[in-house]
Amino acid sequence: MQPLDRVGDFPAIPEGWSYLDTAATAQKPKAVIDAITRAYGETYATVHRGVYQRSAEMTIAFEASRRRVADFIGAAAPEEIVFVRGATEGINLVAQSWGGANLKAGDRIMLSVLEHHSNIVPWQLIAERTGAVIDVAPLTADGRIDLDAMAALLTERHKLVALAHVSNVLGSVVDARRAAALAHKVGAKLLLDGCQAVPRMPVDVGAIGCDFYVFSGHKLYGPTGIGVLWARSDILEAMPPWHGGGAMIDKVTFERTTYAPPPARFEAGTPHVVGVIGLHAAIDYVEAIGLPAIDAHETALVREAREALSALNSVRLFGPEDSAGIVSFAVEGVHPHDVGTILDESHVAIRAGHHCAQPLMAHLGVDATARASFGVYNGRQDVEALVRGIERVTRIFG
Ligand code: PMP
Repeated sequence: MQPLDRVGDFPAIPEGWSYLDTAATAQKPKAVIDAITRAYGETYATVHRGVYQRSAEMTIAFEASRRRVADFIGAAAPEEIVFVRGATEGINLVAQSWGGANLKAGDRIMLSVLEHHSNIVPWQLIAERTGAVIDVAPLTADGRIDLDAMAALLTERHKLVALAHVSNVLGSVVDARRAAALAHKVGAKLLLDGCQAVPRMPVDVGAIGCDFYVFSGHKLYGPTGIGVLWARSDILEAMPPWHGGGAMIDKVTFERTTYAPPPARFEAGTPHVVGVIGLHAAIDYVEAIGLPAIDAHETALVREAREALSALNSVRLFGPEDSAGIVSFAVEGVHPHDVGTILDESHVAIRAGHHCAQPLMAHLGVDATARASFGVYNGRQDVEALVRGIERVTRIFG
């Protein structure tokens, strides 16, 4: 393994603390914190109201970030990038705007068993409103979305397929190109929830051929409260507004209001200006390391963790061997919350719970798992600390 050795970039990670909860939210490198501090402390102003110099400059920086995001995920144009609060808001936007305009009674939406609640509940809400029906693609025995089984379930009634690019619980990676081809074969659109993919592998939406892609800045070493919805421009242009307010209009009268073209049409209100600036810094940070290097680093850590944990007889591992940066597990006879609490006493921070994926928990036959997830600041010492911690858990519970 090539150690990335980046922990020194992260002021909130003290010596001796193993932060293994990056799948929930990533720690922030100094470069991002500095960009945020500068934006509030030196260059702050609102955007798109450029009658004074400061606002014009902030607008330039804001739109430069949009271009940076577009390049980062292989979008055809910056206008295809809509800034939202996070993946959750991005999916709700697609469900309410695109779904509201395109779904009718009897249409079908294909999800999978391993989806995060944010890629389930927005579809349930729009299904209730429109009379559309939700189908669920099963998983393979090792915890991947079973695309063969999904292919057999897909019909011309399916208008949308919405899948996690990488599972936040199992770390399994879907074959995104194949998913796009399968969706398109029946005339459906494909939405990918890229929350766990963009921080740990190169993503090119053009090469994948999907129609919508969402992710959250805070899992990509950027600020909270900022995220991205990408959609192909022809799709975005045909979508009606979702939130109404300032900045999303062309002309307002009490008789009739007309709307701005995308992306402004979907960015009502004062945007999270500093979040957008911080997201730019986060993308610069990960790209300076290189997504292929991050991918290789996390793959190696996962392999080490899985090997070491499976050598402990008391541990059950979930998910495929080649999971991306995330390892879910159970310690026999010990509730995951107890595992997490005892690990915390050894300065190892993991997540324990249902990970906002209750249908997946039901499928696995558990009510919670323990989850270790890696980032650029982790190394072999963190895997060792995790394994020592689990040994202590088994000693305590004897
Ligand atoms: N999808 C996946 C796969 C996730 O891991 C998460 C965050 N846990 C979300 C969606 C929701 O992201 P957010 O809460 O930032 O909107």
